[in-house]
Amino acid sequence: MLSRATTSAVAHRASSMRRMRRRAFNANRLYCATNGCTSFLVVDEIGQVAHCEICGYSRRLS
Ligand SMILES: [Zn+2]
Repeated sequence: MLSRATTSAVAHRASSMRRMRRRAFNANRLYCATNGCTSFLVVDEIGQVAHCEICGYSRRLS
């Protein structure tokens, strides 16, 4: 009983880690979508502003 609870806790932790990784990946691939623009925003090195090189749209991240 104790070992089964431990196993499910480990499985739950692993699945939530997968979710966090996927969210971090999406944060680096922001879709522009401004006026139907189909490119991804480029995040600057500080990680505070994302801009689109195609349409010039920029978005503050916080
Ligand atoms: Zn754009």
